[in-house]
Amino acid sequence: VHVAMTAERVQRRLIAVGSGKGGVGKSTLTANLAIALAGRGRKVGLVDADIYGPSQPVILGNQGSKPVARDEKLVPVESAFGIPVLSMGHLVEPGRALAWRGPMAGNALSQLVDAHWGDVDTLLVDLPPGTGDVQLTMLQRFKPIGAVLVSTPQDLALIDAARAGQLFDQAGVPVIGLVENMAGYACPHCGELSDPFGKGGVETAAARLDLPFLGRIPLDLAIREGSDRGKPPAADEGALGSPFHEIAAKVDA
Ligand code: ADP
Repeated sequence: VHVAMTAERVQRRLIAVGSGKGGVGKSTLTANLAIALAGRGRKVGLVDADIYGPSQPVILGNQGSKPVARDEKLVPVESAFGIPVLSMGHLVEPGRALAWRGPMAGNALSQLVDAHWGDVDTLLVDLPPGTGDVQLTMLQRFKPIGAVLVSTPQDLALIDAARAGQLFDQAGVPVIGLVENMAGYACPHCGELSDPFGKGGVETAAARLDLPFLGRIPLDLAIREGSDRGKPPAADEGALGSPFHEIAAKVDA
């Protein structure tokens, strides 16, 4: 009993990672941020609440593991990086969750957050893209201390990110800052830099919205390959991981 009570008293910071639309790198950022924060000595856990495409089990390389329940609460599964994870992908067959109605998704999210997180002090939540029921449940029930929003430099993604920011704002959850992903592409053959989705747009938008700008992550094939192979770049000390470590330092400040 004593141990359980101590565990419940751990001060746990919930940080939501959101985006206006899918495919902008929200899950990639969340996984790498988790690894980078753990590298800073935080005890990090990760909730993958993206019902549309729960990808954390792939990125963190623990697809095979299934969580068990103890005292009617889920026990998170360990990832290869010492980060306990619970994912929507752990609860349902791939592709099935899409058909869930709002309350079902909300209840599933509660199961993931209200789990045996033990001594985890920082819980990152990879939200589904957009501003739907799961996001609202997250904000209302669990009151994260803040949200990180990620966008590509593209106009549409930017506008959607601004809308997501408004949702957090209205719920009284401060936006910690904006991250620009897929900014600038280095050609793997000649090294020439190009900007397939534009560049600097997110920083400009952050200034306009009066929100902190947390950093820029280049579009780099190695980031995608690493993510698909369960080798997130932040786990390496190399240059590929450094933007994630810089962003983590700002989030942790
Ligand atoms: P979201 O969670 O926003 O839907 P993901 O994190 O799943 O997006 O990323 C979508 C795809 O883009 C994945 O294949 C991922 O590996 C890739 N990706 C994300 N960020 C980058 C990047 N900076 N450079 C290259 N590929 C990236």
